[in-house]
Amino acid sequence: MARLVMKFGGTSVANIERIRNVARHVKREVDAGHEVAVVVSAMSGKTNELVAWATEASALHDAREYDAVVASGEQVTSGLLAIALQALGIQARSWQGWQIPIKTSDAHASARILGIDGGELIKRFKERKEVAVIAGFQGIHEETGRITTLGRGGSDTSAVAIAAAIHADRCDIYTDVDGVYTTDPRVVPKARRLDKVAFEEMLELASQGAKVLQVRSVELGMVHNVRVFVRSSFDKPEDIDPNASQPPGTLICGEEEIVEAQVVTGIAFSKDEAQISVRQIEDKPGVAAAIFVPLADANINVDMIVQNVSEDGKTTDLTFTVPASDYVRAKETISRSKDTIGYKSMDSATDVAKVSVIGIGMRSHAGVAAQAFKALSERNINIRAITTSEIKFSLLIDAAYTELAVRTLHTLYGLDQA
Ligand code: ADP
Ligand code: ASP
Ligand code: MG
Repeated sequence: MARLVMKFGGTSVANIERIRNVARHVKREVDAGHEVAVVVSAMSGKTNELVAWATEASALHDAREYDAVVASGEQVTSGLLAIALQALGIQARSWQGWQIPIKTSDAHASARILGIDGGELIKRFKERKEVAVIAGFQGIHEETGRITTLGRGGSDTSAVAIAAAIHADRCDIYTDVDGVYTTDPRVVPKARRLDKVAFEEMLELASQGAKVLQVRSVELGMVHNVRVFVRSSFDKPEDIDPNASQPPGTLICGEEEIVEAQVVTGIAFSKDEAQISVRQIEDKPGVAAAIFVPLADANINVDMIVQNVSEDGKTTDLTFTVPASDYVRAKETISRSKDTIGYKSMDSATDVAKVSVIGIGMRSHAGVAAQAFKALSERNINIRAITTSEIKFSLLIDAAYTELAVRTLHTLYGLDQA
């Protein structure tokens, strides 16, 4: 007997037929004798619709009310799945975030989980053989008693946090692909499914744009050592042997479990970027602080930073990227500080994309990035900015070349499927 968390994303619960399919996946594990907590997303498209409604009601809305609205999608699917399970003769009960409770910070719309008491769920596994069906994405801020949400894609994080709280043997993330691939399989049909990915690599893949797992869920999995397994909900429930040691999918695990580390494991990309260049800034100590402190105070996440060495020793240019959603605010913030920074002009672009190459093998191999520069230049793709870290390098390019760049690098590093 094992204790499992099974998480189902939006496409997996998109309609009643799919919810019935999910119920059969859950039944399979229950019949095999496992204790099961299920975490569900809203039906696909639902959260987008709710977000759009909140924005339509007022573009500048109260984040507490935004959360009250957008958390409702998961309330619906948790109830529906409990009904579908009961119809199959399985004892099941739905739980909203506040009922467990899943305690979070009060950062509405991007709250962090602070603690979960898994005691009641475990008691019900033991006493009633009851399946818990938990609404993902949402929690409660204890002091105010208000509903919170965890940021887009947050149900992954709910699932891993619950797995840690109930000491689950595994957290299965069922989605619309059958695992984590070398890059987004919808963009590169030659992408290969990976059997195992190290937490650190998954963290980079997720934070650089591979939306298959929310970044925070990977962090939590790493900290609490939860075995996270990404698999497909579209496999027929009846075709799967619940006792098979490794069904098709990808295990996110500690680095020590990866036997043959490749130099490059995967490629992620994001078009959600904007570039800002501040020109002819006086080249003296304190100018970087004059630019980046106001941005940090405005809660704007700066990613790539490139400062040119000044030719004349008097002025320099500074280029950096921010999430596209913060682009307008970032420009306004810089303009407001123009006098303290002291610059001549500012230009910017939103039609840019960031392509990142990731692999723990890079630690011990030199020249990996140089190969990419050469391959992209042969395709006439211009690189606007570069950043590197121990197991990753990222390139900023024109958005129009994203797919071409990803495919070129995928082939270059030998990731294409045979
Ligand atoms: P869910 O609704 O189940 O949470 P998501 O849409 O959030 O699913 O995540 C699954 C999607 O992530 C896939 O459909 C795929 O297009 C995308 N994706 C991006 N990068 C990768 C990758 N490296 N491996 C697998 N899927 C990826
Ligand atoms: N429904 C939420 C979203 O679309 C959470 C999730 O699906 O993970 O972001
Ligand atoms: Mg998701």
